[in-house]
Amino acid sequence: MYQVSKKQHFDAAHYLRGYGGKCEELHGHRFEVVVTVEAEALNDVGIAFDFVELKQHLGEVLKRFDHVCLNDIAPFDSINPSSENIAATIHEELRGRLSDVAIASIEVWESPESKVTYIP
Ligand SMILES: [Zn+2]
Repeated sequence: MYQVSKKQHFDAAHYLRGYGGKCEELHGHRFEVVVTVEAEALNDVGIAFDFVELKQHLGEVLKRFDHVCLNDIAPFDSINPSSENIAATIHEELRGRLSDVAIASIEVWESPESKVTYIP
Protein backbone atom coordinates (compact mmCIF):
# COMPACT_ATOMS: atom_id res chain seq x y z
CA MET A 1 0.00 0.00 0.00
CA TYR A 2 1.28 3.43 -0.94
CA GLN A 3 -0.04 6.71 0.38
CA VAL A 4 0.65 9.85 -1.61
CA SER A 5 0.01 13.29 -0.11
CA LYS A 6 -0.09 16.81 -1.39
CA LYS A 7 -0.32 19.97 0.68
CA GLN A 8 -1.68 23.35 -0.39
CA HIS A 9 -3.09 26.31 1.44
CA PHE A 10 -5.68 29.03 1.12
CA ASP A 11 -6.22 32.20 3.13
CA ALA A 12 -9.75 32.90 4.24
CA ALA A 13 -11.91 34.55 6.84
CA HIS A 14 -14.65 32.80 8.76
CA TYR A 15 -16.67 32.86 11.95
CA LEU A 16 -18.48 30.08 13.78
CA ARG A 17 -22.18 30.75 14.35
CA GLY A 18 -23.39 29.78 17.80
CA TYR A 19 -19.90 28.95 19.08
CA GLY A 20 -20.23 31.04 22.20
CA GLY A 21 -16.60 32.21 22.25
CA LYS A 22 -14.16 34.37 20.35
CA CYS A 23 -14.33 32.14 17.23
CA GLU A 24 -17.79 33.61 16.77
CA GLU A 25 -16.09 36.86 15.69
CA LEU A 26 -14.83 37.32 12.15
CA HIS A 27 -11.17 36.26 11.90
CA GLY A 28 -8.81 34.69 9.40
CA HIS A 29 -6.56 31.68 8.95
CA ARG A 30 -4.06 30.32 6.52
CA PHE A 31 -5.74 26.93 6.08
CA GLU A 32 -3.24 24.21 5.14
CA VAL A 33 -4.91 21.28 3.42
CA VAL A 34 -3.27 17.87 3.00
CA VAL A 35 -4.96 15.34 0.77
CA THR A 36 -3.74 11.73 0.91
CA VAL A 37 -4.65 9.13 -1.67
CA GLU A 38 -3.72 5.48 -1.59
CA ALA A 39 -2.94 2.83 -4.15
CA GLU A 40 -1.96 -0.82 -3.92
CA ALA A 41 0.25 -0.88 -6.98
CA LEU A 42 2.64 1.27 -8.93
CA ASN A 43 2.28 2.10 -12.59
CA ASP A 44 4.89 1.26 -15.20
CA VAL A 45 6.86 4.38 -14.28
CA GLY A 46 7.01 3.33 -10.61
CA ILE A 47 4.48 5.90 -9.37
CA ALA A 48 1.42 5.22 -7.18
CA PHE A 49 -0.30 8.52 -8.06
CA ASP A 50 1.08 11.55 -9.84
CA PHE A 51 1.77 14.56 -7.56
CA VAL A 52 1.09 16.84 -10.52
CA GLU A 53 -2.42 15.50 -10.99
CA LEU A 54 -3.12 15.66 -7.26
CA LYS A 55 -1.89 19.26 -7.08
CA GLN A 56 -4.02 20.28 -10.04
CA HIS A 57 -7.27 18.88 -8.63
CA LEU A 58 -6.67 20.12 -5.09
CA GLY A 59 -5.77 23.57 -6.41
CA GLU A 60 -8.94 23.76 -8.49
CA VAL A 61 -11.09 22.76 -5.51
CA LEU A 62 -9.41 25.22 -3.13
CA LYS A 63 -9.46 28.17 -5.54
CA ARG A 64 -12.97 29.29 -4.61
CA PHE A 65 -12.08 29.29 -0.89
CA ASP A 66 -9.10 31.62 -1.24
CA HIS A 67 -9.41 35.24 -0.07
CA VAL A 68 -13.11 35.07 0.71
CA CYS A 69 -15.20 35.00 3.84
CA LEU A 70 -16.16 31.33 3.87
CA ASN A 71 -19.50 32.10 5.51
CA ASP A 72 -20.53 33.89 2.30
CA ILE A 73 -20.12 30.89 -0.02
CA ALA A 74 -21.83 27.49 -0.29
CA PRO A 75 -22.11 25.29 1.64
CA PHE A 76 -20.84 27.48 4.50
CA ASP A 77 -23.67 29.97 4.09
CA SER A 78 -25.81 27.24 5.67
CA ILE A 79 -23.37 25.07 7.67
CA ASN A 80 -20.54 26.38 9.83
CA PRO A 81 -17.13 26.69 8.16
CA SER A 82 -15.46 24.65 10.89
CA SER A 83 -12.31 22.80 9.88
CA GLU A 84 -14.35 19.60 10.15
CA ASN A 85 -16.94 20.84 7.63
CA ILE A 86 -14.23 22.31 5.40
CA ALA A 87 -12.45 18.92 5.29
CA ALA A 88 -15.66 17.03 4.46
CA THR A 89 -16.56 19.57 1.77
CA ILE A 90 -13.12 19.32 0.17
CA HIS A 91 -13.47 15.53 0.21
CA GLU A 92 -16.86 15.72 -1.46
CA GLU A 93 -15.53 17.98 -4.22
CA LEU A 94 -12.34 15.96 -4.77
CA ARG A 95 -14.16 12.64 -4.83
CA GLY A 96 -15.76 13.34 -8.18
CA ARG A 97 -12.46 14.47 -9.66
CA LEU A 98 -10.36 11.59 -8.32
CA SER A 99 -12.66 8.71 -9.20
CA ASP A 100 -9.76 6.44 -10.20
CA VAL A 101 -8.00 6.50 -6.80
CA ALA A 102 -9.05 6.07 -3.15
CA ILE A 103 -8.90 9.16 -0.95
CA ALA A 104 -7.48 8.08 2.42
CA SER A 105 -7.80 11.35 4.30
CA ILE A 106 -8.18 15.10 4.15
CA GLU A 107 -6.33 17.13 6.79
CA VAL A 108 -7.19 20.75 7.45
CA TRP A 109 -4.72 22.68 9.57
CA GLU A 110 -6.12 25.97 10.78
CA SER A 111 -2.93 26.81 12.67
CA PRO A 112 0.47 25.13 13.02
CA GLU A 113 -0.85 23.47 16.20
CA SER A 114 -4.43 22.56 15.27
CA LYS A 115 -5.73 20.22 12.60
CA VAL A 116 -8.72 18.09 11.77
CA THR A 117 -8.42 14.84 9.83
CA TYR A 118 -11.42 13.63 7.86
CA ILE A 119 -11.27 9.94 6.95
CA PRO A 120 -13.97 9.03 4.43
ZN1 LIG B 1 -11.17 30.12 12.99
